[in-house]
Amino acid sequence: MIKYEEKQIPARTEKIYVDTECDFCGQSVHAHLGNYDVDDVTIVSNYGKQFPGKTYLQNISVDMCGSCFRAKMLPWLTEHMLKGRTPLVEGEKD
Ligand SMILES: [Zn+2]
Repeated sequence: MIKYEEKQIPARTEKIYVDTECDFCGQSVHAHLGNYDVDDVTIVSNYGKQFPGKTYLQNISVDMCGSCFRAKMLPWLTEHMLKGRTPLVEGEKD
């Protein structure tokens, strides 16, 4: 005979991704985007050591919306880091 008893299972808390806020303006990086719009910015530095089968890496990352990247970061990079060179722009635009 298989027996059952009722037990109360405590609710659990999970960490679920909700959104990413821009570290510069505080807005959601997905704000003002339509269903098919893409406006990704990835600024991350991975550093450490990588051996066959074992990796010891740390990273530093900044969350930034596309608007802040184009309006704030890109002009600063162009002026201070790229020394006036034009940043690479690739992709199709209709
Ligand atoms: Zn922003």
